[in-house]
Order: sequence, then structure tokens, then C-alpha cells
Amino acid sequence: MPRSTTARIDLNALRNNYCTARERAGSAKAMAVVKADGYGHGIAQVASALADVAPKYAVACIEEAAAIRAAGLAQPVVLLQGVHAAGDLADCAQQNFEPVLHGEHQLNWLEQGGHAPDFWLKVNTGMNRLGFRPNELPAVMARLEKIGVGGRLHGFVSHFACADDAESTMTAAQTATFETATAPWPQLLKSVGNSAAHFISGQPLFDWSRPGIMLYGGSPVVGKTGPELGLEPVMTLEAPLITTRVVSAGESVGYGGAWVAQRDTRMGMVAIGYGDGYPRHAGTDTPAAIDGRRIRLIGRVSMDMLAVDLSNAPEAREGDPVELWGRTVGVDEVASCAGTISYELLTGVTSRVPRTSF
Ligand SMILES: *Cc1c(COP(=O)(O)O)cnc(C)c1O
Repeated sequence: MPRSTTARIDLNALRNNYCTARERAGSAKAMAVVKADGYGHGIAQVASALADVAPKYAVACIEEAAAIRAAGLAQPVVLLQGVHAAGDLADCAQQNFEPVLHGEHQLNWLEQGGHAPDFWLKVNTGMNRLGFRPNELPAVMARLEKIGVGGRLHGFVSHFACADDAESTMTAAQTATFETATAPWPQLLKSVGNSAAHFISGQPLFDWSRPGIMLYGGSPVVGKTGPELGLEPVMTLEAPLITTRVVSAGESVGYGGAWVAQRDTRMGMVAIGYGDGYPRHAGTDTPAAIDGRRIRLIGRVSMDMLAVDLSNAPEAREGDPVELWGRTVGVDEVASCAGTISYELLTGVTSRVPRTSF
């Protein structure tokens, strides 16, 4: 019997969000970013559902790319973190994985020979996590020619540090740095845009955009929710009400006695907690919903359950499904109550929660 605490995945909403990304990308193509198990939605299901619309996928590492092949999908897969060992390059070549090479040590691996895969070069335009600095590019390009793998290079990749903040000037500065750095090689492809970049008016997305969170309906923009940006929620996280009771004024609920009833309150316990990936930092007043009606959490989230105030849902009974996030309560809202972002909540749903798609 499947557990009634579930993450229901709306694959139609996922496809619609991909189409929104593609429209916003204009003349750029959109590689679907499905790393971290499809942002927690299940990489095989997500990649399969996008197979007829997405010409390319992107993941962090080679193990994730292998999961796409295991699902029977043949599209090229970009490895955003490149490869972690010399031997992976041959696997990439064989499997049509396109690593993003970002450091000198990876060029050494290329030089060691073997069959080179198609690949990309990461340019560090200010994020300062990975990549070659613009002034290093000419030497890197010369070295690739010398190794004899220049023809395998698809193009250049960079990543924005502040694209979620419409007020930041950093995205424009990074874009300018990127354009100048790559100008000597106009025949090569360019890719810079994460989800947030799709919502910055006038932002060039060049040849390939890389939408991630927006495919799953999460907001990439500070201060806006996914639905406000025209995105559809994909995951509904749901768990049953396992008991209801009335607590009297003055009684507390849960660990630490953190919430104390001001008046007699009908409350319920829901079968989900931080052991399922529901954020422990979501405190009293974090929204949830029963049957489309908003209710609120009370007290501390436990490992396997959490408490809700049922004042707003007087007819709620044991067995009723409670929506923790989904169409009534946005994942962005819960994230902000927990002091985090939807990315962390979606990728944090643990393997104890079965994913069912429809
Ligand atoms: C994860 C990632 C993306 C997608 O970012 P979103 O904000 O989820 O759209 C794009 N590019 C790189 C390099 C990434 O690591």
C-alpha cells in the first residue's frame, strides 16, 4: 500500500512551465535543468515528461546524466559541474554527455588523451565559484587547439550571481564581461541564463538558456511567487490528518511547549515532518490547506508530524489530506516562512515520501 504522505507531480504543469521558459527565451533554445533528482520531483519522470519538447538536459554530475540514460532517453546531457575524474571524459564521449570544463586540471585530463567528448568552457564573470577568468581564455583556447580538441568545444557558459534581484546591476555587468570575453570566437555558442534571467527584460539569453526552478513552478525572482510569474505549481506535498483534538486555553502543543492555546482550539496532527523534508524552521502561522481552505501550523515541526490549527476547517476529519504546498499554498510562501527558498524545500523532500505523477 503506498504511503498516504505523498508528493504528487503534475507533469502537465511541468511541460507548460517548460513552454513558458522556451517562449521567454525567444531565439535561444532551453536546456531543461533536471539536477538534484529533478529538483526533488524524480529525474526519470521529469526528464521523460519533457522528452518531446526539450532538446537537451542539464545536470550537475555524471551520475545524474546516467539516470537520464537509464530512463531510456537519448538527448545530450550537459554536466554543469564538469567531470570529477579523468576517466569520466571517455564515458562522456561514449554517452553523449557534454561536460562544462572549468579548471586547468580538467584540461590536463583532456591532454592525457583518449576520446574527447563534446564540451563547454565555463567563464568566470563574477560568480567566482568555477571557471576561467576572461584574461585566461586566449591561452586556454590555444591549449585546446594544441591538444587537438578545439573542434569538440561547443561554446561558453557563465552563471549569474544576482539575477534573482531585479535591482542588482551585477547581471548586466556579468553579461558585458561575458560578451567581451567571448567576442574573439563568435562562431561558438553562448549560454548564461538561469530561470531568473528569463524574467529580466532586455536580458540577452544568447544561444541556450538553462531554466531550472521555473520548470517546477518555483519563483526565481525575489519578492514574487511562481504563480505571480505565470508558473504552475508542479509538486503538491500532501499528508493525512491522523488525529484531531481540542486543546484548552493555556495548554501547549508539541516540543518545547512552543505554542500555547489562547483559547480552546480544535487542532489536528498531520503525518509529515522534517524526516520527510518538511522544513523544521517553518513555525507557527506557516500556511497549509485542507480541501482548498487555508489553515496554519502551530508549534514546532517534529520528525514525523506537525500540528495544525483547524479553526478554519471545522469539518476536517481524520484521514483528510492536508496540502503542505501545492496549488492552494505556494511552495514559495512556505519557503519564506522557513527563511529559505523553494529550491531547498523541493530538493529536500526525502526518499520516505513517494512521488506519484499524473
Ligand atoms: C542550477 C543551475 C541552473 C538553473 O538555475 P535555476 O535558478 O534553478 O533556474 C543554471 N545554470 C547552472 C550553472 C546551474 O548550476
